[in-house]
Order: sequence, then structure tokens, then C-alpha cells
Amino acid sequence: MHGYMGKILRVDLSAGDIQDEPLNEVYARAFVGGSGLAARYIYDLVDGGTDPLGPDNPLVFMTGPLVGTSMPSAGRCSVCALSPLTSIWGEANTGGFFGPELRFAGYDGLIITGRSEKPVWLAVIEGRAELCSADGVWGSDSYGTQDRVREALGEPKARVACIGPAGENLVKMAAVMNDHGRAAGRTGMGAVMGSKNLKAVAVRGKARVGLADPEGFKAVVREILHNVSEDMAVMSLQLAGTACYVDMALMYGDMPIRYYQRGEWEGASDLSGVLMDDQFGVKNAACYHCPIACGRQMRAPSYGVERVDGPEYETLGALGTLLLVNDLEAVIYAGHMCNVLGLDTISAGATLALACEMFERGILTAADTGGVEMRFGDAEMAHRLIGMMARREGFGDVLAEGSAALAERFGVPELAVTVNRLEVPLHDPRAFVGMAVSYALSPRGACHMQGDMYSVDTGQGPALELGIEPGDRFDSSEEKGRIAARQQAWRSLYNAMTLCQFQNPGVEWILAALNAATGWGLEAGAMMVLGKRIVTLQRLLNLRRGLSCASDRLPELLLRPLKDGGTEGCTPDMDLLLAGAYAEYGWDSETGRPTPETLAEMDLSFADGP
Ligand code: SF4
Repeated sequence: MHGYMGKILRVDLSAGDIQDEPLNEVYARAFVGGSGLAARYIYDLVDGGTDPLGPDNPLVFMTGPLVGTSMPSAGRCSVCALSPLTSIWGEANTGGFFGPELRFAGYDGLIITGRSEKPVWLAVIEGRAELCSADGVWGSDSYGTQDRVREALGEPKARVACIGPAGENLVKMAAVMNDHGRAAGRTGMGAVMGSKNLKAVAVRGKARVGLADPEGFKAVVREILHNVSEDMAVMSLQLAGTACYVDMALMYGDMPIRYYQRGEWEGASDLSGVLMDDQFGVKNAACYHCPIACGRQMRAPSYGVERVDGPEYETLGALGTLLLVNDLEAVIYAGHMCNVLGLDTISAGATLALACEMFERGILTAADTGGVEMRFGDAEMAHRLIGMMARREGFGDVLAEGSAALAERFGVPELAVTVNRLEVPLHDPRAFVGMAVSYALSPRGACHMQGDMYSVDTGQGPALELGIEPGDRFDSSEEKGRIAARQQAWRSLYNAMTLCQFQNPGVEWILAALNAATGWGLEAGAMMVLGKRIVTLQRLLNLRRGLSCASDRLPELLLRPLKDGGTEGCTPDMDLLLAGAYAEYGWDSETGRPTPETLAEMDLSFADGP
């Protein structure tokens, strides 16, 4: 199979059994790779009753056909399972070098089931795999774990994906960390890893990906690299990382403030990416074969930390504007704590901000928090609680369950800003109404990585050939719903190719790269079918887990107009937007279920029952 290593590693931790198996070519043709292909494998292995923290929940690391090639910015890896935070489809993807190295070790993906009796880590080196005791590593933070595993292996260049204390303690928002501070952050994949007593996976090898048309592939890569150097969005990312978006987001009202309830705050501009680079920047950092290098290395000298990875835009919002903390160095340090402890910064920051909101409303008191005053603007409190959350100490144990559980526990479920129990990222659907569709229909709950309509409506890399056109950001119409669905499908295909979403050379060049790698000879229209098939399968899996069209909603707080800021009082019209999106996907307008015709057209008839 061109574009694939042709091999999956199956690991049963309960039995200590490790087996190679051929990659399922039919699955790969239909679901490509990454979170698409992982969904196809996982669909066969779970049902409505599978416990996300039980041994039967498979944890899947999956790459795509462009990973480890010379394709720019195609070095990501998806980590997927049922989510312990949401109980539905869970996925996160991470940059760095782990994905390419997994392929060099000889595999397209890993499917890990069971639960080891004692903590272990998995070594996959040059096509051979073994389980090793994690006795000396369990309890280490995520940075220390990566170093120790490399030392134990005697492979200083091995790439290690691991959990920190949060994953070990089954914190529902625990991340899988790799390459220092790169994170597969969302939906609690670190807790799934912890539930399996699996501390780390180390990969290393020299195998290379075979391409269908190596010369054609080289030509495509040359063209993409040439275009990258002239792309304005890329220049901004090079200048200030993803934090370059802070100022623009504030202008549009896209960056939520004070737990999603304010549109303006003068302290927010203190968190600007340019300022951050000037004051605390050390250097840019790139993932495998990426000419953009949006990653950042910072320092936080007041906290005695000389190397901080990030923070990204989302982290600056979650641990900054949501909490009304404008001390930039304190926010950088809070992000660093999350990396080291292995926590998703978005869910951690949003849950802390919800606790502040509840405290200030008198719903939570010091008697509930063990004496901690949960106040907006208090960076020291945030640092303390992040540590307590990762270790499940005191009130941190309550926060470790996430926002939805926190709000339910104290009788105010309407206050949780979550979609299907996943905390909403730092893009306000009142600023770009298309995001309402991205959040409400994302198979993993509120997700900015499957349908970035803020990019489309600001004219950044729209895929015009696929009918994804920029428009009025406040236009709550069926047509906007359709466009948002197309963007969601397109980005789902990106996640299946595990291509970084900051690399936008256009549909034509991505298609050319995919065809040169695989030899599939696809046409542009097929890209939309692939993307929609992936979203629809993940939706079917969620329907089997108990979701329905009633789950396609936004939280109440995001449907209230803001008096100030760039949203201009707009709220999304969910009925119109969803009607357009359902029609685009071929889902029944009443039930939201894919119709029999859609299932047949998409070759998804195998998944036609709950
Ligand atoms: S643009 Fe940034 S996140 Fe994307 S591959 Fe490059 S360095 Fe990694």
C-alpha cells in the first residue's frame, strides 16, 4: 500500500500480548487515517455500554498517509478512544515528531486494549515491540517521563508519548504529552492511558514511507513550500505563534472573557502574542518537517522556569481571559504547569473559571473548596488549583471531573459552558455564528479543530473548490449552516490525513499530494465525501452511545447576547444553522440521524443501527 507502512500493532495489556497485523486496506481507503481510520477500528470494538475507563475501551494512536513524508506540516498523530470526560467519541491530535517516528518504527498505528496489572510502558523500536516495567517512572511528570524512558531505552532520539500525574490519577481532562510540551490535549485521552496502567509509548526506527509517485510528490512539495513563504497567515504565525491571533480575536469579540460572559476587558491586550514574544520569548519551534514553526519556547524567570513550551492562543484564553488574569508571565507558568502535569489547558482553565463564577454567585463557598477563595483575577489561586486538580487533592478532586460534572454536582447544570460535556474552546460562536455548527455537531463535543469557521469568515485559506466560501460572520442562515458543515467535513479529512490546519496550500495541492502518496487518483469531489463519511461514522458511534438531535445544542450562556465587544449583540439562530447542516450531511431534518440513502451513498450501511 503506497502511503502506508501497511501494519498496525495490537497490544492487549491484560494478556501482555503484542501482535502485528496488516493494515485493513478497505478501511484505509474509506477513512484515510488519523481520527477517521481510528473511528473505523474503534467502531468495531465498542458499544453503548463500554466503560471509557474500562479495559475494553481501545486507545488508538493513528497516523495518516502523509505523515513522515516530506509533505510540509504533516507530522501529526491522532489519539482516539471513548472519552471519560464526555462518554462519547474522544479524539485529540498532537504535533511534534511522535507520529513520523511511529511510522519510521514500522507502523501506521497502535491499537491498545486491556489493562496491565502493573504500570508499564511500551517500546516500539525498529519494528519490534515490548512492554517494560514502569516502576521507576510511574509518578514522574510528563517531561521527566520522556527523559527517563529514553534513558532506560538507551535511545536518546526515541520519541515518547506519555502521561503525567493527571493521567495516572484518571483526571478526566488529562492529556497525552510528547516532544516536551506537545499535547494530545482534549477529551481526556491521558486518563484512558492511565486507566490502562500505561505510562508511556516510545518509538524509534529507520523505515520510510513508500510513495506511489515519488517524483510527482517532490514537485507538489516544492510548490507548497514556495507558496508558504508568501502566505500572510503563515507570516503572522512565524512572528508570534498561534498567540498572533489574540489581538484580532479581541477585535472580533472571538476571545471569550470572564467565563464567556464579557465581550471586552482592557486587561486582555496584555496577553498579546507579540508582547509575549518580546518579553519572554526564547525561540520558535517546529514540528517535523514544518516550515512554519509556530511553536514557541518561552521562559518564566519569576517562577524559576527557563523552558516553557507555548503557550498557544487557546491556553492564553483559557488560563488568561476566561479567568481575568492579565499577568502574562503567570499565564505562561499556568500553561507550563498543565504541560508538566499532563492536563488539557482548555478544559482545565474553563473548569477553574466556572468554579470562580459559581463562587462569586455564592453557589460554591469556602466550605466546599476547602477554604480556597475562588476569585477571578487570582493567578496564584489558579496555579494552586491546577496542581490540586492533577493530583486530585481536596477540591481539586471535584474539579478533576470537569465543568459539566462540577455544575451538576451543585445543581446548576445550565452554567456549564460545554457541548456534550466538553468545555468550549476560545472561539465565541456569537462572533462567528458558523462556529455554533462546529461546536454543536462536532463528534467530540465543542471542538475548534473540526470546523474553524472563524478562519473561513476572516478569509484565511477558504477551500472555494469545495463550496467553502467566506461570508458575513453574523449571518445565521441555512446557507451558513451548509458551509459550516462542509468546513467541518474538510477539517475532519485534515485530521484523517493528520495534516496541520495551519498549512493551507489549497485543495488542489493537498489532493495532488494525497494522490502522489497513495496512487488513489481521487478528484476534488471525493475529498468532501471522505470528510462527511468520517463525521457521519463518528456521529453514528455517538448515537449508539445515547446522543440524539437534542444533543446538538449550545450551552445557555453562549446564547445570551453580550452587551459589549465585537460580537455586537449577535447570537446564533440554531434552528436555521442546523437545518442547513443536516441537509448538507444528508441527515434527517427531524431526528438528525443519517438517512438510509445517506448511509448507502457513503458506504456506511454496516453502521445502520443504534
Ligand atoms: S504550524 Fe505549528 S503546529 Fe503546525 S506543524 Fe508547524 S509547528 Fe506544528
